[in-house]
Amino acid sequence: MIAEIILKVAGFEKGEFTYHPRPSNAGLERCLRAMCYQAQNYRGRLLADRFFAVMDDSSWHEELTLDFLRKSSFQVHSEQMVVECGEVIHNGVPFMIRGKIDGLLTDLAGVDRLFEHKAINHFTFERYAQEQFPLDYLTQMAFYFVGLTKVQPDVKEGVLLIKNKNTSQYLEFLVDYDVASDVLRVLDVVKSDGIRRDGKEFTGLYGHAMERFAEVERHRSENTLPPRQYDTGDWHCSYCGFSQMCDSSYEEEFSSFTEGADLSEIEDTVKEYVRLSDFKKRTEKTLDEVKEEIKRAMKAKECKKAKSNGYLVSLSLQKRQGLDKSLIPPEILKDVQKETLVEVLNVKHEKLNKKFQKEDSNV
Ligand code: SF4
Repeated sequence: MIAEIILKVAGFEKGEFTYHPRPSNAGLERCLRAMCYQAQNYRGRLLADRFFAVMDDSSWHEELTLDFLRKSSFQVHSEQMVVECGEVIHNGVPFMIRGKIDGLLTDLAGVDRLFEHKAINHFTFERYAQEQFPLDYLTQMAFYFVGLTKVQPDVKEGVLLIKNKNTSQYLEFLVDYDVASDVLRVLDVVKSDGIRRDGKEFTGLYGHAMERFAEVERHRSENTLPPRQYDTGDWHCSYCGFSQMCDSSYEEEFSSFTEGADLSEIEDTVKEYVRLSDFKKRTEKTLDEVKEEIKRAMKAKECKKAKSNGYLVSLSLQKRQGLDKSLIPPEILKDVQKETLVEVLNVKHEKLNKKFQKEDSNV
């Protein structure tokens, strides 16, 4: 009765998302090509109504967190204050990038810190809790720090507080930022259960983001697109509204790429690729052989759980679902099969390649 209409209501008042440079789309992980599509007014796939409900629920999470904070010894103020974060050329004219900060936090010692809140899904939260850094959010904060220099120049530190929407755990990144050198340091990363991980220093987040805005503008004025930032199988592309047109136009662009360019400037990287690929092949082969030997030993003793000097070894039978294409009528198979573009990188040594070609022609 309600489930079917509620998301439609959420999406009812949605407006069109038009491109303009802003702190929230400044992050380097945001696809430059997708930004160019947007800036050139290409019409992508329509956003699902559920997307608007998700966005809306993020602001409610922020409100809940702020409500808790207001009951703590921290003072929250300057919520949604507009800051000016630098000028770029947009649509051919100078454009001031403006952003709204989530707020400023004042502690008992009277120190003000920038406050930025995000509410995200469990899997991304865990990635940030364990190993990765939320580069796009940190870039957004760098923009706000730049903007704050005009109105609150004493604010040098900030807190990025990320809430796990599934578990209500929090993850805090305490950062400081030096506007002159464009260096953002993550000083501390702590989860609400007290588990910490090391911080890291990032140079040039703001500068690179400004260069990307200039790049989007250049492509807009020349009616061109940059190469893909992500491969077709990447999750960014699965969620991208421009994926269909991106795939089809990329095939055309790719066919016009030249052959025979000189890449000596990345010779070391190419060598490393060959070394790692060989290593991977050898390791995979050895791993398969070792696996088979363990399985053989277990089957010889007809056991499925065993011990080997402190190691627990187990063998289980798992059922996996798969499609038997031979049972699907061809007219249905044709409709459900999806073609995807895949970039295949192949690196061989020139001399070896010639040797193989020669041997092949002698056969
Ligand atoms: S499909 Fe992928 S590469 Fe293409 S614009 Fe979207 S995110 Fe970028």
